[in-house]
Amino acid sequence: MNLPTIADIVIIGGGVMGASAAYHLARRGLKNIVLLEKEPFFGQGATGRCAGGVRYQFSTEVNIRLSLASLPMFERFKDEIGQDVNYRPCGYLIVATNHKDANTFLRNVDLQNRLGVPTQFLSGDEVRTRLPLMKFDDAVAGTFNQKDGTVDPNSVVMGYVGAAQRLGVKTFTGVELTGIDLRRDKVEGVQTNTGGIKTRMLLNAAGPWAGQIGQMAGSRIPILPVRRQIFTTNPLKDIPDDFPFVIDFAQSLYFHREGEGLLVGMSNQKETPGFDQSVDENFELINFEAAIARIPLLETARRASHWAGLYEVTPDAHPIYGATNITGFYICAGFSGHGFMHGPISGKLMSEFILDGKFSSVDVSMLDLNRFEEGRLIREYNVV
Ligand SMILES: Cc1cc2nc3c(=O)[nH]c(=O)nc-3n(C[C@H](O)[C@H](O)[C@H](O)COP(=O)(O)OP(=O)(O)OC[C@H]3O[C@@H](n4cnc5c(N)ncnc54)[C@H](O)[C@@H]3O)c2cc1C
Repeated sequence: MNLPTIADIVIIGGGVMGASAAYHLARRGLKNIVLLEKEPFFGQGATGRCAGGVRYQFSTEVNIRLSLASLPMFERFKDEIGQDVNYRPCGYLIVATNHKDANTFLRNVDLQNRLGVPTQFLSGDEVRTRLPLMKFDDAVAGTFNQKDGTVDPNSVVMGYVGAAQRLGVKTFTGVELTGIDLRRDKVEGVQTNTGGIKTRMLLNAAGPWAGQIGQMAGSRIPILPVRRQIFTTNPLKDIPDDFPFVIDFAQSLYFHREGEGLLVGMSNQKETPGFDQSVDENFELINFEAAIARIPLLETARRASHWAGLYEVTPDAHPIYGATNITGFYICAGFSGHGFMHGPISGKLMSEFILDGKFSSVDVSMLDLNRFEEGRLIREYNVV
């Protein structure tokens, strides 16, 4: 298909945000939607490299409300979109190994319970009983919510792209946005490596690259790319089917079942911002050792695969939704390492904002771009 010369809206980025927004805008009846992805396939950015974790356990009301709206959309995905996304409600068990974190966990559980999420607060002994394969002598407390779990990211992106195409959205891979045409601070069109498109509306859903897209329009978008990496193991017969998504909070170290083995990740707190997506083998060794200290049976495990991807980090670890200083230039990005799970509702919210001028499903009006200039930052504690 040739690139059209005119569109009602151009969406940049074929990850979960762009795909979900394209589908939701088309479902609301917008015509002439164009979705552009620079890579040869959709979902090769942060979305395709993520751990697939989905959870209700957050420390701020807005993130919990986003999960309350978004996670049921994964449960309904097959009926609505026609694609199985393999939602596995194995539960997240987040472990505190110091009293400061344990006190914060208590406050988080209280907030989650008040908003209708039945998270349980666990003692250190309860953590040890639930995780007999793990060495958690230092566990002080834990939190557990059964409906947290994992979902397959690729199926979600391809589900939304396919459904959007069936509704008439024109989707392109291998097409890179290279410039934005403006006239008196209004969007007039875009330039790409394969031609220009006239449009009055542009949605920046470029994840870790969203700051670069902002620069093309002269809009400062404070999103930094920060490398994060993961490895998976060979099948481990001792890991039970119902092994939860475990987070050792103080070390930002996490584990969940991946096929018959484990997926293991850990955040390198010394990582500096940049677009490098190669695996840092030295840090992988540190990650492996930390993982073995928690799950001794990993000593005999083999690495099955490994990869790195980019978190899209904002100064307050919350996303940016809505308008920018340029008329017609919208943004939905900056999910700071936990955006996959909020992809379904975020695309819907952007369709509401673009077509109705307000967010109806969840009030995310405080997550506007202006909050950084105006010092209205919102802190999230539960980000690993
Ligand atoms: C290792 C790792 C683990 C993670 N684990 C989880 C998790 O367990 N749960 C969770 O919810 N989240 C997790 N995340 C975060 C999650 O992946 C992101 O928040 C989410 O996928 C962001 O989606 P997106 O659509 O905004 O960005 P992306 O998926 O990166 O999509 C943006 C797209 O824009 C494209 N693009 C960029 N520039 C251009 C251009 N000029 N022209 C055209 N296209 C362009 C890119 O190629 C990319 O495909 C993890 C992330 C990483 C890296």
